[in-house]
Amino acid sequence: MKIKILGTAAAEAWPAIFCNCETCQKVRELGGKDIRSRSSVIFDDTVLIDGSYDNFMHSIMEGVDFYKIKDVFITHEHSDHFIYDDYYPFFFYEDLSLYANELAIKDLLTYPEKPETWTGINVIKPFESVVTKDGHKITSIKAEHNPDQVNQLNYIIEFQGKCVPWLTDTGLYEDEKTWEFLSQFKFDTVISECTCWRDEKPFYHQTFEGVLKARERFLKMGCIKEDTPYYLTHFSHNIKMLHNEMVEIAKPYGIDICYDGLEIIV
Ligand SMILES: [Zn+2]
Ligand SMILES: [Zn+2]
Ligand SMILES: [Zn+2]
Repeated sequence: MKIKILGTAAAEAWPAIFCNCETCQKVRELGGKDIRSRSSVIFDDTVLIDGSYDNFMHSIMEGVDFYKIKDVFITHEHSDHFIYDDYYPFFFYEDLSLYANELAIKDLLTYPEKPETWTGINVIKPFESVVTKDGHKITSIKAEHNPDQVNQLNYIIEFQGKCVPWLTDTGLYEDEKTWEFLSQFKFDTVISECTCWRDEKPFYHQTFEGVLKARERFLKMGCIKEDTPYYLTHFSHNIKMLHNEMVEIAKPYGIDICYDGLEIIV
């Protein structure tokens, strides 16, 4: 399985456009791995999870062939994960399918001139599975992201005997049903968000402490082993740490830090 990480920031990106904080100023000077765009990832060139404002730049800067994508999965309706305007013209092509919650695609579902050929727009609910056109099995789980919206999703991707969960946006799962469901999987690599790092009130995002708790639980359930690669993504500039600082803190726990353009072979 080839995972191409396109964007590793939370909604504001790094450096946040109007932000004058010390972190964003340093990022403007340093560039490199500290430049982070909005969350987006491609599996084996054909499956896209989330994409918004920055997919245009990814197509140019990273040379991503978006026309190879056949299936798009949206985690939730927040604008750093899905922008309807960028997507709707492409659903005229019958071979592009979209899966998302009702809220994210309400405009597409009710598009006034919706052609007959639009067959690829699908609502997906927690704990459902879909097999993509090139054979990826994608299973959704309920994210712990917004108390008012129950169908925000994380995804588990299975392909050619490998299994990787994409866990953003979410806090530490509170629902025991979710943990019970997760216990059936053996993960070859885990990719989790860590939007707030050391925030005491992360508001339905992960902290580093929460990540360690989740990792411990995956270990106990037998979903991962001590040496299973574990990556973090979806960072807010408010965590006030640069890439290398995060790498140093996470390394002793066997955890690595994603950056824009990172390719992971599983
Ligand atoms: Zn987000
Ligand atoms: Zn900032
Ligand atoms: Zn969100």
